[in-house]
Amino acid sequence: MEMKFESILLPGVDPKRPIVIAGPCSAETEEQVLETAKALAARGIKIFRAGIWKPRTKPGGFEGIGTIGLPWLKRVKQETGMYIMTEVATRDHVFEALKAGVDMLWIGARTTVNPFAVQEIADSLKGVDIPVLVKNPVNPDLELWIGAFERLYGAGIHRLAAIHRGFSSYDKKIYRNLPLWHIPIELRRRLPELPIFCDPSHIGGKRELIAPLCQQAMDLSFDGLMIESHRDPDVAWSDAAQQIAPDVLDYVLNLLVIRDENQTTENLSALRRQIDSIDEQILELLAKRMRVSREIGIYKKEHNMPILQSPRYSEILENRSNMGAQMDLSTDFVKEMLKEIHEESVRQQMIIMSEEENN
Ligand code: PEP
Ligand code: MN
Repeated sequence: MEMKFESILLPGVDPKRPIVIAGPCSAETEEQVLETAKALAARGIKIFRAGIWKPRTKPGGFEGIGTIGLPWLKRVKQETGMYIMTEVATRDHVFEALKAGVDMLWIGARTTVNPFAVQEIADSLKGVDIPVLVKNPVNPDLELWIGAFERLYGAGIHRLAAIHRGFSSYDKKIYRNLPLWHIPIELRRRLPELPIFCDPSHIGGKRELIAPLCQQAMDLSFDGLMIESHRDPDVAWSDAAQQIAPDVLDYVLNLLVIRDENQTTENLSALRRQIDSIDEQILELLAKRMRVSREIGIYKKEHNMPILQSPRYSEILENRSNMGAQMDLSTDFVKEMLKEIHEESVRQQMIIMSEEENN
């Protein structure tokens, strides 16, 4: 689907990178919402987020304060002039949020995975002109993410943006949700006009990862940041470990180095041309390697030998990774690369084997 996006920037919001959205994971009490909002407004934040309905992995956790929290957001808007934003997951949420004058909406990661839910939201927004930001689905499925934009666009919502919040994985190490940066980068390639925000709070899951993740997002040319900020993060009712106080947020934002996008110097383009030509050489060499490998396949077939020769394969892995280490390439990288190459070799030899058999 061809999509022509319109700006998500409401009047008065500076288009300069990063566009910042901040606020608590959840609206908890009227005081918590207002105090946090005022502290953020005082530091120049223009878009305030707060979850009213919270999707939780298991029942029993804090599932959001619900509609009684919407008037608190309304007060934020009246008293600070900030735009207010919340998460919607159902038709009812949309209805309630619009009634309360919420300015922008986001769709959460657990909703984006479900095309029925996204379609329901899209249908309930027909005829409404409101910016909608869509978080990536919890699983690393770019098509599903793009599908959500298409559903909303199809319903006439043209002010769209993406929020990268990382992807679930079974083994959690550093991150709560793996960044898998290549996915938002591929989204940018597929939909170049779509603004992309990074949510370092949900990717990192801990405070100390917020600053480095923000910097990485800026270095990758993301347009904005959505950061969880709470007046007293330690006592937050949800996602306590990943929220920062408004003054810390201000400090983090001030430390960011924003590199100029348009400064593609002559030098850089010359270096890029070098990279282009080296990549071409790598591909040519790989094609040559596959040709030789197919010849080996023919030989193996004629001599009734199996495709897999394990000792030979282990020897290749060992010997090449040592070679790579001497060239400052990491052993893991060289091994991974050779595994991929070997897999393709085997695939090509298998084609040869079956062709011969069919003859
Ligand atoms: C949130 O923004 O608080 C939230 C629930 O995020 P996600 O949908 O990314 O898990
Ligand atoms: Mn949260």
